[in-house]
Amino acid sequence: MKKILIIEDEVNMIEGLRFNLEARDYIVIASQDGETGLKRAVEEQPDLILLDLMLPGINGYEVCKKLKESNPEIPIVMLTAKSQESDIITGLDLGADDYITKPFSILELLARINAMLRRSGTNSTIPDPFQFRNIEINFRKYEAFKDGKTLKMSPREYEILHYLLERKGEVVTRDDLLNQVWGYESFPYTRTIDAHIATLRKKIEERPEEPEMIITIHGKGYKFL
Ligand code: CA
Repeated sequence: MKKILIIEDEVNMIEGLRFNLEARDYIVIASQDGETGLKRAVEEQPDLILLDLMLPGINGYEVCKKLKESNPEIPIVMLTAKSQESDIITGLDLGADDYITKPFSILELLARINAMLRRSGTNSTIPDPFQFRNIEINFRKYEAFKDGKTLKMSPREYEILHYLLERKGEVVTRDDLLNQVWGYESFPYTRTIDAHIATLRKKIEERPEEPEMIITIHGKGYKFL
């Protein structure tokens, strides 16, 4: 089971998160200020940290910086209020891996946590950076290169590709992609998935109309060869 540390001063927020995370079999520990949070991060070695920005004592930025200094691999999701959106960049500069703006949809947060834990290596078998043919992908940094030149991909495209690679050689249905990559209940249409696959192919395939990496399995879904 994966362990999540919540550093957040609002008790209601902690309890709401705890309820939802425990319902999905995560172990939840929480601290209400930065100092205790840092201590618990060392003692408990969580798999992921949810970090509020506005904390009493040392603020979320400082906590983030210190956490990343002691353990650069630990995934951190910052919880920020809407009014602080301009400060998010600072958080990402300090090493936060993702952020979510309050009030947020719990389903969206769960999807992000899920995606991040998959990427963070402990339960992923995909090398990072990943290389195939003339493509190099660094999933943690969201960087991609084709023939040594930067390849622009959206976060969603990274997620799709990562999931396909995780299940390399297997058929991945559109429902799998909806659940694992989008994850929300407000589902996009399945043709949204097809559109994403089409743009992804244009970026990584030599001949997108005759794909050699992401192939269509008629009536089922897709498969990464
Ligand atoms: Ca707060």
